[in-house]
Amino acid sequence: MSSDTKQELERQLAAYVGIEIGPPTPAAEPVNESMIRHWCEAMGDRNPAYVAPTAAATIHGSVVAPPTMLQGWTLIGIEMADPAKMPRNKQTELHALLSSYGYTSVVATNCDQTYVRYLRPGDRITATTTIESISEEKATALGIGYFINTRDVYRDQHGEEIGSMLFRVLKFKPAQLPQAAADAGGSTPAKPTRLKPPRGHDNAWWWDALAKGELPIQRCRECGVLRHPPRPMCGACQSLAWDHVAASGAGTVYSYTVVHHPKFPGYDYPLVCAVIELAEGTRIVSNLVGCSPADVRIGMPVRLSIEEVDGGMTLPFFRPAGS
Ligand SMILES: [Zn+2]
Repeated sequence: MSSDTKQELERQLAAYVGIEIGPPTPAAEPVNESMIRHWCEAMGDRNPAYVAPTAAATIHGSVVAPPTMLQGWTLIGIEMADPAKMPRNKQTELHALLSSYGYTSVVATNCDQTYVRYLRPGDRITATTTIESISEEKATALGIGYFINTRDVYRDQHGEEIGSMLFRVLKFKPAQLPQAAADAGGSTPAKPTRLKPPRGHDNAWWWDALAKGELPIQRCRECGVLRHPPRPMCGACQSLAWDHVAASGAGTVYSYTVVHHPKFPGYDYPLVCAVIELAEGTRIVSNLVGCSPADVRIGMPVRLSIEEVDGGMTLPFFRPAGS
């Protein structure tokens, strides 16, 4: 992109900074106990403040909504998946402008919420969204793009602020895949590799053990419940104390899907993705290999096979038992 074109884009971007994207968005329905209950079921949250059978049983004098439901009250629902049905406002206009300059991809990067008070059944929420800032063009691992910060302010039926949310997205030009770069330039492409698993504070130990040839399963040191994938807290008793056991490698196919499309570079298709029930009783998502997709059956016995791929990445695969 020439510097003139970039200047023209950034001149247009500046017009969006500090403006409200449109009229406030009202929640489709008041805060209500049904949605609170469904949310708590999905989250596994049994806090009596949210799901007590009677108002008198809560410390708030009535059931209240989990604060993290804040944004959910005003989301427009399944229509968000269809760009043609998205509301037309300054935010969608801004995204369309960036897309027209080649910044076609978007990824959410940050979300900070502030809560003023608990929401109670009957509260009617509206959200006002302001485009707070747009960064200069940044180079990131995903590609070059612009960070867009928006601030949502949530108000109740009396106009009182009950919470707010800072939301940041990166609107970017996707970095070229090796094959696309080769098609464009005619040079020999590097052999594409699989997506690298994210490693962090809570799961690096798991990948290290796997690289040594063992499939570890995290175990709560208080109650003994197994869990996977690795995470800091036991979902059964909320203990932070854990150790791990080595899986025997025996398991069965609990469920599976055969992926034909979209084809990510670095994988062989069709790709059998399976939920494996380990003999120890916990489950892991993995690829089933050494087996035609047509022969996969729910309940079939499988065996762990720890294999190195892409020169240095160790992954747990499963193969039909006895193969
Ligand atoms: Zn536990």
